[in-house]
Amino acid sequence: MEYKGKNAWEKYPQGEKREKVFEFAEGYKSFLSSCKTERECTSYFIKEAKKAGFRDLAEIAKNGETLSAGDKVYVSNMGKAITLFVIGKRPLEEGMNILGAHIDSPRMDLKQVPLYEDTEMALLDTHYYGGIKKYQWVTLPLALHGVIVKKDGTVVNVAVGEGMDDPVFCVSDLLIHLSSKQMEKVGNKIVEGEDLNVLIGSIPLEEVELGEDASEEEKEKQKSRVKANILEILKEKYDVDEADFLSAEIEVVPAGPARTLGFDRSCIIGYGHDDRVCAYPSFWATLDAGSCERTTACLLVDKEEIGSVGATGMESRFFENMVAEVLNACGCYSELALRRAMMNSRALSSDVSAAFDPNYPSVMEKKNAAFFAHGLVFNKYTGSRGKSGSNDASAEYMASIRKIFDDEDISFQTAELGKVDEGGGGTIAYILGNYGMNVIDSGVAVLNMHAPWEIASKVDIYEAYRGYIAFVQKAGL
Ligand code: MN
Ligand code: MN
Repeated sequence: MEYKGKNAWEKYPQGEKREKVFEFAEGYKSFLSSCKTERECTSYFIKEAKKAGFRDLAEIAKNGETLSAGDKVYVSNMGKAITLFVIGKRPLEEGMNILGAHIDSPRMDLKQVPLYEDTEMALLDTHYYGGIKKYQWVTLPLALHGVIVKKDGTVVNVAVGEGMDDPVFCVSDLLIHLSSKQMEKVGNKIVEGEDLNVLIGSIPLEEVELGEDASEEEKEKQKSRVKANILEILKEKYDVDEADFLSAEIEVVPAGPARTLGFDRSCIIGYGHDDRVCAYPSFWATLDAGSCERTTACLLVDKEEIGSVGATGMESRFFENMVAEVLNACGCYSELALRRAMMNSRALSSDVSAAFDPNYPSVMEKKNAAFFAHGLVFNKYTGSRGKSGSNDASAEYMASIRKIFDDEDISFQTAELGKVDEGGGGTIAYILGNYGMNVIDSGVAVLNMHAPWEIASKVDIYEAYRGYIAFVQKAGL
């Protein structure tokens, strides 16, 4: 392609080299298939980090233990986000090399009072999370993932719809035969938010003749027997009551595993590439890069899709607080040391990029678009309407990144999110930028971003992994 370097597959001819790319993709595919919520991702990362010798920073802080070069720690933020550190040889004050990505994905969340019966069908009411084309989320097999927390603190894990024998769920759509009015509506009205109700059952509980002294509860049960039947099933399966939904976080996501796509097996179609396709290689690069000159920090955060707000999002002070804990455990905490550690850091803030789609070329400007199989995408800036809301990385920083990637023969490309004034989007980069550190947006190109099933190229995922390793080993030296 005239605008870009070589197709990255050319570097991996059939045989051993290509097998390595496919092998990494298999690991990612099984991660993507089993980790469909930020909580499930965090649990996976904790499990793998522990296996690799990482210890819980919270415990180290509590016990007043010390940390030194080569030590590896992780810390969970409410089980929905995780930060990992590999302590470097140089003082932390000289800055960290940071890999950041988010692990929340667009979906539908159950409302706090979700369950109801209508015309002898039981349904769950949802509130969608993140930016979605609502009409894409109907008529698909759906799974339910999340937690129900009972008043006594018991956490009930829910993951139903993935096994071949599991039931799945669905939001219905109007048949084409009766859709003449619906089909005239504009795209954002074809299916409206309040109509995203998930069908979960249709068998009534057995009818019972009620005596005059029957309680209100029993009368209610007899009025909505399909709902009552579902509640009995939930009681038996999870030991929960209807009121327990008040303290639940259940996410409705596409059911089924990620799959290999293409006769040449070049791509993966799966739910939640945004942004697990960056989180997964960032995590493994942190583990596999070993102990580096500078401290490595890996931030895998929640809530990016709704503006990075809240305790588990990037806007939270969590990361800064944890850097303070690490400094303290290294015996060199001071307010000034903390500020210097943050300012002297270098970061790759990773999030998916829009891949050029030959079906929709008009929204892209080809010289500055991201293409499949052309490696990690760098967005010097993001934002919309004249770069608004964007972190604009410095030319000097971009030059240093080019050198690292070229020296290691890692494929990369630069891109914008679509044509000028075509739309736009934000990431977590500006939040790290607020500390005065060098940060640039990077990530893997994805097709049908924010659709239930998104597509990414295996070779791009592999180049991201290699690029992240080179970055943590070499940036800032
Ligand atoms: Mn997104
Ligand atoms: Mn994203």
